[in-house]
Amino acid sequence: MEPLIRLSGVTRSYPSGDGDLTVLHGIDLDIAQGEFVAIIGASGSGKSTLMNILGCLDRPSGGSYRLDGREVATLDPGQLAGLRREFFGFVFQRYHLLSEMTALGNVEVPAIYRGIPSSARRDKAAALLGRLGMGDRLGHHPGQLSGGQQQRVSIARALVNDARVILADEPTGALDSRSGEEVLTILEELNAEGRTVILVTHDPKVAARARRVIEIADGRILSDSADSVVATPAPQPATPSGVPRIGRLAEALRMAVLAMRANKLRSFLTMLGIIIGIASVVSVVALGEGSRQQVLENISGLGTNTLQIYPGQNFGDTRSGKVTTLVLEDGVQLARQAHVASVSPTVSTSQTLRHGSTEATAQISGVGEQYFDVAGVTLTQGRAFDAADVTAMSQDVVIDENTRQSLFPTGDPLGQTFMAGKVPLRVIGVAETQSRGPGGSTSLTIYAPYSTVQARYLGSTSVSGLTLRVADDADMTIAQQTVTDFLTQRHGTKDFFIVNNDEIRQTITSTTQTMTMLIAAIAVISLLVGGIGVMNIMLVSVTERIGEIGLRMAVGARRSDIRAQFLIEAVLVCLIGGVAGVLAALGFGAIFAQVGGSFQPVYSTASIMAAMASACGIGLVFGYMPAVSASKLDPVAALSAG
Ligand code: ADP
Ligand code: MG
Repeated sequence: MEPLIRLSGVTRSYPSGDGDLTVLHGIDLDIAQGEFVAIIGASGSGKSTLMNILGCLDRPSGGSYRLDGREVATLDPGQLAGLRREFFGFVFQRYHLLSEMTALGNVEVPAIYRGIPSSARRDKAAALLGRLGMGDRLGHHPGQLSGGQQQRVSIARALVNDARVILADEPTGALDSRSGEEVLTILEELNAEGRTVILVTHDPKVAARARRVIEIADGRILSDSADSVVATPAPQPATPSGVPRIGRLAEALRMAVLAMRANKLRSFLTMLGIIIGIASVVSVVALGEGSRQQVLENISGLGTNTLQIYPGQNFGDTRSGKVTTLVLEDGVQLARQAHVASVSPTVSTSQTLRHGSTEATAQISGVGEQYFDVAGVTLTQGRAFDAADVTAMSQDVVIDENTRQSLFPTGDPLGQTFMAGKVPLRVIGVAETQSRGPGGSTSLTIYAPYSTVQARYLGSTSVSGLTLRVADDADMTIAQQTVTDFLTQRHGTKDFFIVNNDEIRQTITSTTQTMTMLIAAIAVISLLVGGIGVMNIMLVSVTERIGEIGLRMAVGARRSDIRAQFLIEAVLVCLIGGVAGVLAALGFGAIFAQVGGSFQPVYSTASIMAAMASACGIGLVFGYMPAVSASKLDPVAALSAG
């Protein structure tokens, strides 16, 4: 029968300056199940190198290593990790405990990677520590334990997955003689249970405790006391591990939280870039949306499906006052055109109002009966005039809220009469003041039938403008074109211009959108910078925690476990940064409102969700490279560096 371990002609060489440095020169070695072997040799003779090859932490450069009948060279990294997890238990000279975890937590680590449910592995770890005399130290951190106690924790860790082979590299090297003695006794007991123990030492007294001593020098076996090799039956083989991946992810998350707690200030500084980036993105979007809504509210009073036709080439045309070609009949004809729902002429004049001892100047808008409907003016009291009033040139008028406050600060204005210029007018309704632009209008407006204004004040049939409501199902652009063509033909020339409220609204909307996009782009750049910061710190942290990574690999972490741990840490840093950033943005909004910003920032759930998603994405993208570089570390190099 083939022994548990069979090395034939195993060599190990390292590339060095000129040619290769060969550390092991053709090692032939059989170790049977249940042996207690000491490998002894001077420092630098290649003991640790041999041990790392035996434990599948390192691969031979040449020769063959058959473990339990299988050629190790044919195994992939995942299978090797499985062997380190379930077949071998490592005990190191410098213990290699994780300092941020308790004794119990350290012992549990290999069982986590094996996928043992948390209560089962906690019980097992506690039982092992109890058996090794550490029952009252479960919650202690490595820094609170003596060397001998730390080594017992590391032995318990080696046993938690029921390892068949214990590999101990100078386990007593850092201990005083009494603690060393205790550790050797424990190893003897483990061997008596049927476990194979392979012990590396430079100390002949330690080696003498083993049942078989192999001496090596300069990478060659000098002597081997193998005489009484008796293979004992294997102990209970470890139950194959069911590996609930979700449980391992939960553990990776717990590890990430531990690592962040261990480095609070650094974690915060790492987050800062993300916090600033997310806070500015969310704030900028909220401010942009707030100002857009404010502007839209201001212009919504203008109505959105109306066209205003004025004489002249454009606003400010000095000759527009003299253009008298835009007349009432134009409106009557336009109302018959396709796409046009109704037309209301506007004429206007400025007059002094008198009521009792009160005097005020007001704009009198001569409008059609449809005007209130067309321009979206709402009445708060009374009624508007109708078509009959217009035909009759009635002196019944609608005053706006500002006028009511000036002329009739108390009492019911309806039915009251006042003078406008030389003409008496009677109030039949009160309309809301039309706010145009921020701050609203402070001028006084009176709506009278246009016929009245023309007859009583202006004495002409030309109008100062036509307000035209486009049919609901019609397209604004087409309607505008139709109206332009029609009027141009009627007048023989284009002596008018059209203002399209929808166009104004679109212009304002797109302008604020452009501004928002621009500032958001700057904020996104700051997020990118934050992400690069995260990547940078994570890369540093990989280098700093190289020993931890090596240890995790030695106790059987898969590459994917290491990758997940670092990736989760990066995502967690970014997510927490994202939450803090959103809170900062909300706080900024509250302050902005307090200091009296002219509008309220509007936070949408969508923008906050998007911010959180991008924080996550940044963690994934910028955490990926550090995570991969951590998972690609060579366990031996990582262990010896840590
Ligand atoms: P021991 O454990 O017996 O003291 P090692 O097995 O650690 O000795 O090392 C044996 C030899 O291999 C030493 O000369 C050491 O310098 C060399 N060595 C070990 N690891 C490396 C490496 N990664 N690269 C180059 N040389 C190495
Ligand atoms: Mg060594």
